[in-house]
Amino acid sequence: MEIKSGIAVSPGIAIADALILDSEEIRIPQRYVSKGDVESEILRFEQAVEDSNKILEEEIKRLEGEVEIHARILSVHKDLAADPALHSEIQQSIRDKSYTAAHAVSRVMNRYVRKLQESGSPLLMERIHDLQDVEKMLLSTLLGKRIETLSNLGSEVAVIAHNLTPAQTAKLDPRKVMGFATDLGGKTSHTAIMARALGIPAVVGIDDISTTVIGGDRLIIDGYRGLVIIDPDDSQIEEYQDRAEEMKRISLHLRSQAALPAETIDGHGIEVHANIELPGEVDSAVEWGAAGIGLYRTEFIHLQAPESGEEVHLEHYKTVIKSLNGLPLTIRTLDLGGDKLPEGSLEEENPFLGCRSIRWCLANPKPFRAQIRAILRSGLHGPVRMMLPMITTIPELDRSLQIIDEVSEDLRKEDIDFDENIPVGVMVEVPSLALIASHVAHRVSFLSVGSNDLVQYTLAVDRGNEQVADLYDPLHPAVLQLISTLIKVGEDHDIRVCLCGEMASESVHLPLLVGLGLREFSITPQLIPEVKQVIRHLVDYEVRDLAARCMDMSDGESIARELRFWALENLPGVASRLI
Ligand code: PEP
Ligand code: MG
Repeated sequence: MEIKSGIAVSPGIAIADALILDSEEIRIPQRYVSKGDVESEILRFEQAVEDSNKILEEEIKRLEGEVEIHARILSVHKDLAADPALHSEIQQSIRDKSYTAAHAVSRVMNRYVRKLQESGSPLLMERIHDLQDVEKMLLSTLLGKRIETLSNLGSEVAVIAHNLTPAQTAKLDPRKVMGFATDLGGKTSHTAIMARALGIPAVVGIDDISTTVIGGDRLIIDGYRGLVIIDPDDSQIEEYQDRAEEMKRISLHLRSQAALPAETIDGHGIEVHANIELPGEVDSAVEWGAAGIGLYRTEFIHLQAPESGEEVHLEHYKTVIKSLNGLPLTIRTLDLGGDKLPEGSLEEENPFLGCRSIRWCLANPKPFRAQIRAILRSGLHGPVRMMLPMITTIPELDRSLQIIDEVSEDLRKEDIDFDENIPVGVMVEVPSLALIASHVAHRVSFLSVGSNDLVQYTLAVDRGNEQVADLYDPLHPAVLQLISTLIKVGEDHDIRVCLCGEMASESVHLPLLVGLGLREFSITPQLIPEVKQVIRHLVDYEVRDLAARCMDMSDGESIARELRFWALENLPGVASRLI
């Protein structure tokens, strides 16, 4: 038994056998062979190389003279697959380490990929895809019919991977994937957010989990405490089964209170909405007591089907609107880039500081305009707001608003009905925008604080990097100053300021956020009953005092301590769960 600890990003407990994603999404069922089988494993590898070579030669012949470029790419793959240095390294690791041929291929290829990555040379890095393609081809030949990918899992598993992208995570089937753990990742990465959306317990940032666990190991993934227990004993399994039951009971109890209002003791109504990534989440968000959807992350429509146009978007929106049955919906325009790379996008050195979000949309007007048309049209089916992410400058905002006007004009000319009065707001996710918010306020209908990114961009801390996770602090006074500035601007210009980042999903932060004057939140759906319950314990003037004290403090740690003490004293019965 071994216990590994990382960052808990999606609550819940999973007890299942490990599935290691060594290469892309291909499962390698077995990592070791017995000493006596080493020589036959080497022969299997040589046979796989020969078979792959034949397949490639046939493909190249078929493509030559027709799709010349593909034929040339396959010739490169053929040369790579025949490389004697590569062969001898793979054979050596089968012989020395008793690896299966598939595992040895994956290991050696990964080593080559890492070397290319570390070279920093764009020319060499272009070869990475070739290497990965060759790896996949060899694995497919070696595993044959036994090939199992994430999309065709035969049994329940706990997925272990070096990293999972948000798009890969979106494809996980929660009926088969009981939990996952990765080497990389941070608490507010989009992978973590997607795990919560799917209700899959997850722990990230464990550094070496993918090289420690062996396929088939029994695992417990504790998504509350951020632990992975490898080969647990019977008593640990029993203890975790009991805990899972207990958490289920608490969750059912909270769910039974979901419909109760979110109102402070002295009568201040607070709106608690849900953040969603997929239309399928709406029904349960409403059951958890959401007053609406405050953030619909539409980029997953694009990631799952990049060619999706206006009609596909419109269909998704109509599905969500129908399930909401009159409750409001805020649709965010595409927030691609960063860790949600659209197909065919150029590799960037710093994708979170690169062509992300509204920048991507302005550089790709066709999908942007198609989405705006769909949003404007969807407004005829229910109360819809449009929200523009990651705006950093006024010209960028003005250009976006101009495009919305132009699209509206096109629809009018084409005689297509749409909602002429859709409120348009912006997400404040970058300090530059927060600091010029008064110039923003009279241009839009609402402001929504995207604290996940606001923290990342204010503190220069990558939200998905486990190595700097300790520095990622939503309670840093600079972050609180920016939020407080925005609330003041909202009051001065009489526009709504809401907060839709993960910061408000942490109940212990709620007294502070309400005390600062926020009256609308959008959070992870499952946490809505708990957050509403906390709100029902608050008195406005008391939390205003608390917020004033916190705003005088110089560091996030002191503020966190103050909030914990306050919760222990003022939220009896609730506090023990929050701390
Ligand atoms: C945010 O940045 O706080 C936010 C809600 O957007 P996302 O997490 O999708 O970047
Ligand atoms: Mg964001």
